[in-house]
Amino acid sequence: METSEHKLLRESVREFSNSELEPIAANIDQTDQFPQNVFQKLGPLGLLGITAAEKDGGAGAGVLSATIAMEELGRVSASFALSYLAHTILCVNGIATHGSSEQKKKYLPDLISGKKIGGMAMTEPGAGSDAVGMKTKAVKSGNHYILNGEKCFITNGSVADIFVVYARTSEDRKKGISAFIVEKDFSGFSVGKKLDKMGMRGSPTSELIFENCHVPIENRMKEEGQGLCAMMQTLDIERITISGISLGLAQASLEKSLAYSQERTQFEKPIFSFQMIQKMLADMATELEAARRLSYYAAECADQGQKNLGFVASACKVFAAEMATKNALKAVQIFGGYGYTKEYPLERYVRDAKLMEIGAGTSEVMRIKIAKELKEKY
Ligand SMILES: Cc1cc2nc3c(=O)[nH]c(=O)nc-3n(C[C@H](O)[C@H](O)[C@H](O)COP(=O)(O)OP(=O)(O)OC[C@H]3O[C@@H](n4cnc5c(N)ncnc54)[C@H](O)[C@@H]3O)c2cc1C
Repeated sequence: METSEHKLLRESVREFSNSELEPIAANIDQTDQFPQNVFQKLGPLGLLGITAAEKDGGAGAGVLSATIAMEELGRVSASFALSYLAHTILCVNGIATHGSSEQKKKYLPDLISGKKIGGMAMTEPGAGSDAVGMKTKAVKSGNHYILNGEKCFITNGSVADIFVVYARTSEDRKKGISAFIVEKDFSGFSVGKKLDKMGMRGSPTSELIFENCHVPIENRMKEEGQGLCAMMQTLDIERITISGISLGLAQASLEKSLAYSQERTQFEKPIFSFQMIQKMLADMATELEAARRLSYYAAECADQGQKNLGFVASACKVFAAEMATKNALKAVQIFGGYGYTKEYPLERYVRDAKLMEIGAGTSEVMRIKIAKELKEKY
């Protein structure tokens, strides 16, 4: 249930998005530059530690609040919202949920204030959907782990200071994964190539290279071999909150289409008066609302402490992602030839929305997870 606090949060993030992001959203896309100075302004607003507990310096506002924040940022700049997700959910929430009290004390204040930027590294060139097949090794040596390997597709890779990194501490496929907090200045750590992407431009995506990277033992999160559980829990929260970005993109597609269809006249009538345009708008609004309700329900399940979020997280992720692409394409159609140009943001929405079907687990993988849950249940 959305409370008055959620409504206030929505209003304040919308105000931030309209005043700080709207004027630069097209430029972020065109230049592919991450607006770090604007990102840091989220700190004083209490948004960078939105799910972290108040005792750890966060807002303690929960997963529904984070989903709403993603939605309002994503409505104006999906790439900015993606970087926000990597920082807030994948890094800050990861450390807040799975870190020791010393790790929280050491790393959370700078991440929550915006002084430092966070990211999370799981994917590797040979281990994407099959993330558990990762090869990056962490070998204990004295009071350090020595990490060797390569990660790819890492959001905020070139701008982040702190990463949650998953690496293999034994050959056991599931019990051999451990989680570490890695600082960008640790010896043996470097950032590789920055990717030139179709969409989500301005959210930097990079390779990370570990060449005898020395990570102090006290930077291992949880016990050795318990990384997979932390990774899966983080992914469930990521899949719910990233749905907020899909909702924001679809909301923007709908708002722009509603305005344009009432302004644009053809055959001496606003195109809104044509029933085929009305059908597109009605379908966009209906599917958006269905996705919103499913995503908020999933977020509420998380906030209520439901243990197994596999079904709801995968279901809202796949439904909201595909809805966002469909709505963005319909918006281009409603704008006609103008929708196909860079004069309007619709083509950006299409390019950004497509990522929603790939990142944080592809639509195919989401359906595999849903089917597995169904088999277990029935
Ligand atoms: C912009 C961007 C940002 C990202 N940010 C991060 C990040 O911050 N941190 C991070 O760790 N990772 C990140 N990723 C990685 C992302 O999670 C992976 O790209 C995604 O999980 C898919 O992996 P892959 O690209 O290797 O595709 P693959 O796993 O190679 O999949 C290729 C195709 O095969 C399909 N497929 C794979 N397995 C199956 C199967 N069993 N059944 C049916 N179909 C299957 C997939 O659905 C897909 O269509 C990011 C990716 C992008 C593009």
